[in-house]
Amino acid sequence: MSKRNQPKAGSRSPRTSARRGRRAPARPPAGRTSKWVETTEQRAERARRVMAALERAHPDARVALEFSNPLEMVVATVLSAQCTDAKVNEVTRKLFQRYRTARDYAEAPPGELEEAIHATGFFNFKAKLLRGLGRTLVDRFGGEVPRTMDELLELPGVARKTANIVLGNAFGVVEGIAVDTHVRRLAQRLGLSGEEDPGLIERDLMAILPREMWFRGTYLLIDHGRGVCNAKAPRCGECPVEPMCPKVGVNPPSG
Ligand code: SF4
Repeated sequence: MSKRNQPKAGSRSPRTSARRGRRAPARPPAGRTSKWVETTEQRAERARRVMAALERAHPDARVALEFSNPLEMVVATVLSAQCTDAKVNEVTRKLFQRYRTARDYAEAPPGELEEAIHATGFFNFKAKLLRGLGRTLVDRFGGEVPRTMDELLELPGVARKTANIVLGNAFGVVEGIAVDTHVRRLAQRLGLSGEEDPGLIERDLMAILPREMWFRGTYLLIDHGRGVCNAKAPRCGECPVEPMCPKVGVNPPSG
């Protein structure tokens, strides 16, 4: 991974993050401290057991956005910001019939693209991103979606989360872990990262999960976040990973 490819780091390196983990696993809840103080190796082992349990609980976990080529994948991911995947799919089923190439987005007539994506919210901003994205693809990449992290990050509206999603789903390339709102929340509650910044959370997860779990783990955490460990009312009493979870920030811890 090039220096430029690394998750946003603040001032900490992955190695520093791992060292921190030996002494201070992610903020154990009051009264539950001793059980959850663990070495980095112990946390990595627990993370693997959590993923195995989530695999049994969510065997069908996969990306919910519909796409048939890399361009559709990146467009759908841009549209999914602040919008449900179901609504994005509803919109893209029509959109992708009219917009088939990067040039179609680059040269979309004023108002037309906005109208087509209106239902996904923030449509003026997203239309601007998609025009810029189409233009950049045409001018820099021959109209094709590139397949490296460095190149994807050059596209308007594409940060590491989107790039990881596109690389993994469209190209089968795994360079990191896509940290969306569910992955962020689960990583914190499970005590796998004590960070707030998605880039630092990604780095913490990459440090304790084997690379072959990075892509799969993303969708296991997302499915679990949607179905069980939801933001407002986590259902700890019926959660298959409850014995392995310190429930950081769940107040009061239940289950
Ligand atoms: S035990 Fe509770 S907080 Fe932990 S993962 Fe399960 S639902 Fe979420």
